[in-house]
Amino acid sequence: MTQTQRAASRTSHRKHSYRRGMQFACPHCDADLVVRSSERVSATYRRALLECTNEDCGWRGTLDASIVDTRTPSECPREAVQLPLSPRAARTLTRAMEAHTADSQRAHASD
Ligand SMILES: [Zn+2]
Repeated sequence: MTQTQRAASRTSHRKHSYRRGMQFACPHCDADLVVRSSERVSATYRRALLECTNEDCGWRGTLDASIVDTRTPSECPREAVQLPLSPRAARTLTRAMEAHTADSQRAHASD
């Protein structure tokens, strides 16, 4: 297999395509903001210094970014990280549990 074929193979098996990052617009002039620096405060919380790219504006500010919920549970969970299920994931789980309960009641009824 050539290096190009290996790269193509890796790409086709990749589960997701990733965007390059979040884009924010300046709250005052709508120009793009760039991240000047950022620090990881915790496993679910990051703080960044943003700067407006419009030299006539010059705004700078702080961004707080928090991970707030779980849509798909991790296959390698960290015990210290406790995130609630997103409303959609909670509905999906509830439906699956109701279906499971109905199935097992039907199985018992036919015993
Ligand atoms: Zn601006």
